[in-house]
Amino acid sequence: MIEDTLQTDVLVIGSGLGGLAAAWEAAKRGCQVALLTRAANPVESNTDRAQGGIIYRAPGESPEQLVADILSVGGGLSSPEAARLLSREGPRLVKEILIDELGVPFDPSAENPTDLDLTREAGHSLSRIIHHKDQTGSAIERAFLERVRSHPNVTVISHATAVDLLTVSHHSLEPTDVYRLLTCIGAYVLDRTTEKIFSLLAKETILATGGLGSVFLHTTNPPGARGDGIAMAYRAGARCINMQYVQFHPTALLAPDGCFLISETVRGEGGRLVDRHGKEFMHKFHPDGSLAPRDIAARAIYQTMLESGEPCVYLDITHKPADQLRERFPGIYAVCIERGIDLTREPIPVVPAAHYSCGGIATDDCGRTTVHRLRAAGEVACTGLHGANRLASTSLLECLVWGTRAGAHAAEPIARGDDYYFPKVADWRYEHEPADPALITQDWLTIQHTMWNYVGLIRSERRLNRAMRILRELDLEIARFYEKCEVSDSIIGLRNGILTAFLILEAAEQCRESRGCHYRIN
Ligand SMILES: Cc1cc2nc3c(=O)[nH]c(=O)nc-3n(C[C@H](O)[C@H](O)[C@H](O)COP(=O)(O)OP(=O)(O)OC[C@H]3O[C@@H](n4cnc5c(N)ncnc54)[C@H](O)[C@@H]3O)c2cc1C
Repeated sequence: MIEDTLQTDVLVIGSGLGGLAAAWEAAKRGCQVALLTRAANPVESNTDRAQGGIIYRAPGESPEQLVADILSVGGGLSSPEAARLLSREGPRLVKEILIDELGVPFDPSAENPTDLDLTREAGHSLSRIIHHKDQTGSAIERAFLERVRSHPNVTVISHATAVDLLTVSHHSLEPTDVYRLLTCIGAYVLDRTTEKIFSLLAKETILATGGLGSVFLHTTNPPGARGDGIAMAYRAGARCINMQYVQFHPTALLAPDGCFLISETVRGEGGRLVDRHGKEFMHKFHPDGSLAPRDIAARAIYQTMLESGEPCVYLDITHKPADQLRERFPGIYAVCIERGIDLTREPIPVVPAAHYSCGGIATDDCGRTTVHRLRAAGEVACTGLHGANRLASTSLLECLVWGTRAGAHAAEPIARGDDYYFPKVADWRYEHEPADPALITQDWLTIQHTMWNYVGLIRSERRLNRAMRILRELDLEIARFYEKCEVSDSIIGLRNGILTAFLILEAAEQCRESRGCHYRIN
């Protein structure tokens, strides 16, 4: 059982690549690190789901070429400084940490097995992406977690959900005139095994809680991607920016147990988008038909579903030889078979799905947020890199670069021996009314359907206004509910989900122009 109050040097919340990189760097610099994850199995994350790969570098490539590709996809909003930082430091860190220190088994080149296989994805002017089959994220996550876990300075605390960040202004029980009010001093954490809340005090806190796809009806993200970090940071007073830029992937397998990303290479290899009657429809939307760019294809599929009233469209690649398909797409083939679909003989039911949040907690080049001693890294953060749209395969590299920098910068004042002061914080006040699961289920459905239909791929003033009215009322209900109920991971998630949904909605409402992945018809 975990005690009522724990104390550490650095608290890292989230065990995906952003959190692992931060924890690793801080631990190597001599800090005691508590690495927290709400999942029972710390591997469970967006990172574990990443398929395509991580950017490395093409032979003879200069950092400026990657900068140019990032800026050209970002809709004019990407920060050139952030893109330069990623391009300069990213490949070096991939080599030093992922390849040399961790030995991640990236696939070798078929021509020269001493080199790594380099692939190219949409928006990249060169082949510069390395991968481990179609399971790159999983290979990185497992190798990194094993290494971080075995570091003597790191304690991994799993099955524990951060509830709220502790700040001097909100939680101190002592006079605070000597200390900055907007200073983070750790988090309240729910031990999911005992359902008790403890305070985890930390000199420095790094949020790495990943994405927010679960606030939409269809998402490629795991169910825990509900914007916890964004909501916690916002409540603590941190600035969140660019929240309207949510990237939707055009093709995710529609299955009763959630969506699974169907790589765009299936369209690239000849897969045709068809309706229920087997008729191609993409030529109405783009001259390239089924090969239309990601955003256009996603919106076209959504529009077609709306007009037909059907729950999905289909991706048909049955005209290709079965052996070739099994060989080329082993992961996708296996997942489809598990769900009773043989893609060599029948079309795959697909929907567009919320995939990546380009916005998040505003951070600088070392992960600092607007709250003192609070940093953020990975998908939860907005470094400005992606602007209004993300270049494929940049997010894992962003986690590695900003995670490492956040860990290093958090460790600096601790190593220097700076003074840290922990005021006494209030113990958690328990409420005893059990939460009614029917309310939680229905509230989530309301959030997800509202976000999908009104704040999703195609936004308009009328849709956004309608969403505002629905979510405002629900927000009040959830606030009352949260006040009274026994706290649990699902109540915490619901409270964070509604706030995150609101932040996306407000940003979408205020931004009247269409840009990148934010598309408004009026
Ligand atoms: C299907 C899919 C394919 C992708 N493919 C690629 C690709 O090929 N290349 C690429 O660069 N990017 C890809 N991405 C994007 C990339 O995987 C993610 O952006 C990145 O992995 C995010 O890492 P992260 O560390 O920020 O968060 P995550 O990996 O999502 O980790 C978040 C962590 O926070 C924990 N957490 C959340 N809330 C709490 C809380 N309240 N308390 C405690 N812990 C909490 C979670 O349990 C988890 O451990 C893909 C994403 C998906 C979904």
